[in-house]
Amino acid sequence: MLTSLEAPDPLPARMVNEFVYCPRLFWLEHVEREFEESYDTVDGERVHRRVDQPRGTIPDDIAQMRSEASSVELASEHLGVVAKIDLVRADGGQAVPIDFKRGRAPAIPGGAYDPERVQVCIQALLLRENGYRCDLARIYYAASKTYVDIPIDEALVTQTLNAISGARVAAVAGTPPAPLIDSPKCARCSLNSICLPDETNALRRRNGETRVRAFAAPSDDRIPMYVMEPGARVGLSGERLEVRTDAGVQADARLDDITHLSLFGNVQVSSQAARALLSRDEPIFYLSYGGWLSGYARSINDHSLDLRVEQHLLARDKERSLAIAREIVFGKVKNQRTMMRRALGAKAKPALRAMAFLMHRVQHAVSADELLGFEGAAAQRYFEAFGEMLSIGTGFEVTGRNRRPPTDPVNAMLSFGYSMLAKEAVAAALAVGFEPGLGFYHRPRPGRPSLALDLMEEFRPLVVDSTVLTLVNSREIRPNHFDRRGRAIVLTTDGRRAFIAALERRLRASISHPIFGYQVTYRRALHVQARLLARAIQGDLPQYPPFTTR
Ligand code: SF4
Repeated sequence: MLTSLEAPDPLPARMVNEFVYCPRLFWLEHVEREFEESYDTVDGERVHRRVDQPRGTIPDDIAQMRSEASSVELASEHLGVVAKIDLVRADGGQAVPIDFKRGRAPAIPGGAYDPERVQVCIQALLLRENGYRCDLARIYYAASKTYVDIPIDEALVTQTLNAISGARVAAVAGTPPAPLIDSPKCARCSLNSICLPDETNALRRRNGETRVRAFAAPSDDRIPMYVMEPGARVGLSGERLEVRTDAGVQADARLDDITHLSLFGNVQVSSQAARALLSRDEPIFYLSYGGWLSGYARSINDHSLDLRVEQHLLARDKERSLAIAREIVFGKVKNQRTMMRRALGAKAKPALRAMAFLMHRVQHAVSADELLGFEGAAAQRYFEAFGEMLSIGTGFEVTGRNRRPPTDPVNAMLSFGYSMLAKEAVAAALAVGFEPGLGFYHRPRPGRPSLALDLMEEFRPLVVDSTVLTLVNSREIRPNHFDRRGRAIVLTTDGRRAFIAALERRLRASISHPIFGYQVTYRRALHVQARLLARAIQGDLPQYPPFTTR
């Protein structure tokens, strides 16, 4: 938990509303500064448009108030809260705060749910602190066009003061509040794909029941934009990105459909396009022609500061780092073994036995060096067998893994694919709020996205190796997709295009999640793993659960 010499910021009344609705939602929004647009948030903005501009004032003597005041901001040091009141009207000698809500008035005793009642009570208390009589607040429900009166009685004031102090405690607790259990609130919650309520509860229970409800994943249909044409320029045209060369527009895509921009080699991006992406929290990646990640631009929207503090603390803790590294390497070796079993079956029995033994050793590794040794031994077994997974007669052969530089086409594809996956993992790490350069298995080194390398380990065989096998065995990739440069074999521009198209198909392939049972793409699964890693670091989960397939 971050500490500061400054006094804590006053709590917005809106956040106390969130705390009463769900303490974890409050923590995600107020502490982690997470936000995800949904139909409800957009519609809420629409409903507030009428009252979100400051207009009118409240005279000291409320009896003199002739019209209403809108968007009135009040704060109290004593209560430690701040509120923007949609409307204040004079009524019977008192000031009445009116809060606009987008939905219909609920048919329940009291006419409103607790979060809204507490929110307007804070507004009433702030008006009282400013010298006005205020025994009544109102909520206007836009969908049913109805006003509901909320009397500010002693019971509601006590409930409100308790909610404020509860929220204060939760804000500095250092660990996220537990998710709600089987709550219908989660289905409507804009942060469910960040919170992972059912996933977290299932992993906490550990009673074997891990099937969870499948909430809509907001980012599944969006994909990165890759630009690799030398001299191309990426610009903004309305709400679209356009890729131009001297021959005219080569490609375009809606900003809403893009998760990030990947620029290979000498490709320019305009300031307008860069700002449009960054304002949406979408990063821009700069890569060499060969796919080596040389840097990225990200927005200044620095959410999840507490997570990064915990990440730094954990990276200094050898035991806890090793515990996470063991899970990561176990997941990778298990997935390599699964690939071998699926492709080679009984033919690979001795190698499969050796891999199973190494998985066991990985789980009991007592140091990072030992873990590295087991991982290396498993990789050697796996890549020795990789050539046998290629169909005969494709014109491609491989006898093991080589790199820096890769000296055969299969290794050239593996190296390029791992670079692309590392970039995906950096994007996932940034989306969650991690520092991509500070890993737990891969130790930090200048220029190395160590945490992204950790995150991608389980996905190397499932995404990249599988893409290479598909490209070769389906004969989609051919020997003329490669060039020789000295000792190195590299993909040509057409080869890179073919590879990226196949990699994207793989990342967007829908699979049944091995732990939670719902349908998910590999790209979304990588993001879920990044979230689960964050939750494990923050003490929300007992340990990091690796992503493994059967
Ligand atoms: S998904 Fe559910 S538990 Fe998570 S923040 Fe939203 S309401 Fe709370």
